[in-house]
Parts: sequence; structure tokens; C-alpha cells
Amino acid sequence: MPEEKSFWETIMPIDRTYNRDTEAWYFEQRCKKAIECLEKNYMKGYYAPDRKSAFATVMELIPPGSVIGYGDSVTLHQIGVIAELRTSKYNFIDPWEPGVSSEESMERRRKALTADVFLSGANAVTLDGKLIYIDGIGNRVAGLLFGPKKVIIAAGANKIVSDAENGIKRVKEIAAPLNAKRHTFRNPCGVTGFCNNCRGELKMCRQIVIIDGEHPGIYPETHTHVVMVGESLGF
Ligand code: SF4
Repeated sequence: MPEEKSFWETIMPIDRTYNRDTEAWYFEQRCKKAIECLEKNYMKGYYAPDRKSAFATVMELIPPGSVIGYGDSVTLHQIGVIAELRTSKYNFIDPWEPGVSSEESMERRRKALTADVFLSGANAVTLDGKLIYIDGIGNRVAGLLFGPKKVIIAAGANKIVSDAENGIKRVKEIAAPLNAKRHTFRNPCGVTGFCNNCRGELKMCRQIVIIDGEHPGIYPETHTHVVMVGESLGF
């Protein structure tokens, strides 16, 4: 009869150091669950284990010769897509090209709404198949909702939450303060790190949008493609 182990002998073999494989496993499970639910909502999901494969997946989804618009996204920068699109090989409408005037930037944001392809990140992805966004002036959410023939989104596993309520909470507690800080906005969340439901000129969450799926009749070929990345990316 095998010798019975004590409780302490049973738990001793556990590796108590930080383990990247454990995190990767956890992220993969959550990404795959989110993809399953996004697809029930007529969006197409792709799993990319890391930023390198996310870059390849996003670039493969862009049809050759497309006019490409985008809504500002830290994730798209982190996976290398924006640097690639800024090379001369693409017809890329870039409102944030260094040196562009604010008038020209606004004009490019308008043009992006009729591009062939629109790229973006996400503020939250829910485990019941929804995408959650905040916007300050609406150009990003507008491009995601209607206009461009194809929408491609890249989101890190850190963006996954259980439902829309927790998605909006994530926006106010994490995405807005970090994005405010990134833009050096002197609004309450950018100064203190906490939301106080401000109403001033620098309020950056004027539009809160929940995308609860696509219309399969209007878009027989999938309109929204979501690349879920098994890494922590963006805010
Ligand atoms: S309401 Fe104001 S303080 Fe709160 S997250 Fe939005 S911009 Fe920040």
C-alpha cells in the first residue's frame, strides 16, 4: 500500500516562483473562451499566443491594396502593426503621423470612416462575446460601427472581463486613467489615477459603446475580426 503523504508533502512540489507558462496557459484559456462567445455573436475570433503571431495574423487579414484607417491603439503599436503600416508599402490614413496639424488629423479621422479596413484595439472584451469601448470625440467607435468594409481588432488577454458591467468598470478604473496619463491630460483620472465622474473639457469617456455582435444578414462575410493575444497588452 503506497505511503500516505502529509498535506505539506503534497504541496511542496509546487513551483512558487513566477511562472510564465502558467500565465500563458491562463491567458490562452480566457482568450479561447472569449473567441467562442464572440463567434456566437457573428464576429470572427483568432487566437495569437504572442505579439509576433498577432502581428502576422493582423497583417494577413488586411486585403492587399486596401485603404486602411485606424483608431488610436497602444496594442497595435506594441505588436508592430503601426510601424509596418507607416512604411510606404500601404495606403494608410494616419491621423497621428508625427508633424501632422490638428486640422489635417481631424480630416484624416473623417476619411478613415470610409476606408476599406479599420483597425483598432479594445478597452474590454467580455466572456459573453461583447466588445467595450470609450471614446472622447467618437472617431474610433464610429469606424468600428459602420462605414469601413472590414474591422480588425487586436486585444491582449488582460482586456478580458466577465461582462459589460465589468467592462465599463475596467474602462473607468484602468483604461481611462492610463490613457489620460499617456496623453498627459490634466483631467481627474489623469492626475489622481481615479475616476470622479468628471464633466469638464478634458472628459475622455464621453461615448461608451458596447458592441453586442454583428448582423449576419447585412454582413454575410464577417465584418469584425478580433485577434485575441495571449499577452498583456495596451491599457
Ligand atoms: S469620467 Fe472623467 S475622471 Fe472618470 S474616467 Fe472619464 S475622464 Fe476620467
